Amino acid sequence: MADRQIVIIGSGPAGLTAALYAARANLAPLLIEGLDAGGQLMLTTMVENYPGFEKGIMGPDLMSGMRAQAEHFGTVVIQGDVTRVDLRRRPFTLSLADGKSMTTEALIIATGASARWLEIDSDRKLSGHGVSTCATCDGYFFRGKPIAVVGGGDSALEEAIYLTKFASKVTVIHRRDSLRASKIMQDKALTHPKIEFIWDSEIAEVKDVTRGEVTGIVVRNVKTGSLAEVPLDGVFIAIGHTPNTSLFKGQVDLDQAGYILTRDGTKTNIPGVFAAGDVQDHVYRQAITAAGSGCMAAIDAERYLEHLPVPDDMTDLAACEADAVPPHG
Ligand code: NAP
Repeated sequence: MADRQIVIIGSGPAGLTAALYAARANLAPLLIEGLDAGGQLMLTTMVENYPGFEKGIMGPDLMSGMRAQAEHFGTVVIQGDVTRVDLRRRPFTLSLADGKSMTTEALIIATGASARWLEIDSDRKLSGHGVSTCATCDGYFFRGKPIAVVGGGDSALEEAIYLTKFASKVTVIHRRDSLRASKIMQDKALTHPKIEFIWDSEIAEVKDVTRGEVTGIVVRNVKTGSLAEVPLDGVFIAIGHTPNTSLFKGQVDLDQAGYILTRDGTKTNIPGVFAAGDVQDHVYRQAITAAGSGCMAAIDAERYLEHLPVPDDMTDLAACEADAVPPHG
């Protein structure tokens, strides 16, 4: 017999919404929150586009509300990091970093995506020493100082606007001459008195001539190749995300960029394994769409479990797998 009917990996909007729905379906879900509990919204400030909050809500407040709601209906949330999964045999086995393992009949993967870094050595080397991927976490350290934000999407402009609360000046460095961000965000950033733009440019190097702290950047114009040094104290990188799928490589089908491939709702190539949120969505990537797909995954998992026969000996379902697995897709 499996330890659990349903386990959810990940505690962002997708994982917690899946947990809420699974709990209300009496499936007693276990949610493993992962290293970055709460996901990307823990690193944001005001979320103005999550329905139901007229004046917006702070990202961490939204996540703690989602978690409390999921727990209220019976979700068991545990800290922990899954280091290995075996999805070839049923029930599925999950191994955790603390050495424990567990089995489950159904699995919802909601491991999200992580911030991308530049393809230069100096940014990671100076991570925590003036280079950051989280304005909310680190903005305060740059009070009265000039800083740069890299990227031209909503994240970059949102961070740039937020950082004007602390920094003396924010320079947005974008590799093209037009922004990818939404019009409303562009209007705010382009007219902000503390924000400047360097167009058609990328960072060639982050300089740290003194004591391992950022002292400036070398900016390369991608059209002319010319280099210019800009003195500043901090660099915030906001150039998108990479899906957290390394754990599932070779078992769950991924696309070329590493996102989990889903079909017919949230089903993966493995019956009983479902994926929700940013780990399978490189198009919408919103809190509300992640939450929506978490709801779908829980409903898909519930229907899967409803059709799962309960053999006398559940310890080795592999032998009767063909009968046990309902049609998928
Ligand atoms: P994104 O939309 O993919 O934008 C990434 C930006 O980084 C792009 O401007 C891209 O340049 C640039 N970039 C990518 N790789 C780079 C590299 N190696 N060097 C330099 N620049 C690089 O990512 P995002 O801004 O994180 O947004 C992701 C999703 O979340 C979007 O759907 C966005 O609308 C949403 N979002 C919404 C809000 C909000 O509504 N409040 C806030 C944040 C994010 P190119 O433009 O040249 O490709």
